[in-house]
Amino acid sequence: MHQQFIEMDAPVRAITFLLFVILVFLVVRFTLNRIIEIRAKNREAEIKATQQQEQPAVEEPMVRCALCGIHLPQSEAYFDGQHTFCSEGHMRQFHQQQQSQQ
Ligand SMILES: [Zn+2]
Repeated sequence: MHQQFIEMDAPVRAITFLLFVILVFLVVRFTLNRIIEIRAKNREAEIKATQQQEQPAVEEPMVRCALCGIHLPQSEAYFDGQHTFCSEGHMRQFHQQQQSQQ
């Protein structure tokens, strides 16, 4: 009696299991496609955002530190009337070097 029940139920279970696997596969594939789509859109938006952010930075003139030679935006630089510097410390150091040379 019990044996017969299993034999009758087995194909139904197999089909149900198969349908379940196909359903899971389709859901996973759909979800992955959505994630890939969203990531691609986000990347496009990010690229556009960085391009928009970079444009004003390029317009700002870049100056060179007279001591270490690093390039930095003019708004962040220290200017002593003759030379530009990356920091107040480098400005002082540069003036000390000039004084010792004279
Ligand atoms: Zn410097």
